[in-house]
Amino acid sequence: QHFTSADLRDIIIDNVNKSGYKIPTPIQKCSIPVISSGRDLMACAQTGSGKTAAFLLPILSKLLEDPHELELGRPQVVIVSPTRELAIQIFNEARKFAFESYLKIGIVYGGTSFRHQNECITRGCHVVIATPGRLLDFVDRTFITFEDTRFVVLDEADRMLDMGFSEDMRRIMTHVTMRPEHQTLMFSATFPEEIQRMAGEFLKNYVFVAI
Ligand code: AMP
Repeated sequence: QHFTSADLRDIIIDNVNKSGYKIPTPIQKCSIPVISSGRDLMACAQTGSGKTAAFLLPILSKLLEDPHELELGRPQVVIVSPTRELAIQIFNEARKFAFESYLKIGIVYGGTSFRHQNECITRGCHVVIATPGRLLDFVDRTFITFEDTRFVVLDEADRMLDMGFSEDMRRIMTHVTMRPEHQTLMFSATFPEEIQRMAGEFLKNYVFVAI
């Protein structure tokens, strides 16, 4: 099975080929059709499984299928990551897969100047990759709103819990649910009780995938 059978836009397939990915990994095989079909997803997958491309490819492809006006500060996709390092990795993957498309990808994380990161947000981004605290900072200051957000990804959710972000995750999801039509994807290496409870709270009629 190749990426071409995964029902992704040609430009995304071209960029996947340029990355040298030939065969989808198991988590990509299972998750891409679920996300493309519009369902919420709870995926248990480790780092190194190819989980980043598993959510990025169908999301970026959907954005290109159905172009929306780029409204400043109103991202269509929000990806939440526990650490700056992971956020940067996701950002680099996203830019690679969105190469030569009109999609704009932004990143915000704590520990650096708010003003510099806000420049990219005020220029407008379809996709924002963020750490939880800094994301809420932007939301509280009304520089980012989730009003146009169609996809939310909570990546490494168990690690976010371990790092004490459980309240931040809940606050983020409260903002997201203000828009009724959205798709939520949770990725986690483990599936402890608190993650099961969050999946029940944040996801609707979700598909469960464990690799
Ligand atoms: P991740 O689990 O998303 O952190 O990905 C782990 C590594 O595998 C990254 O370096 C990816 O670039 C790479 N990777 C992801 N999907 C594939 C694939 N289908 N074929 C080859 N390498 C991949």
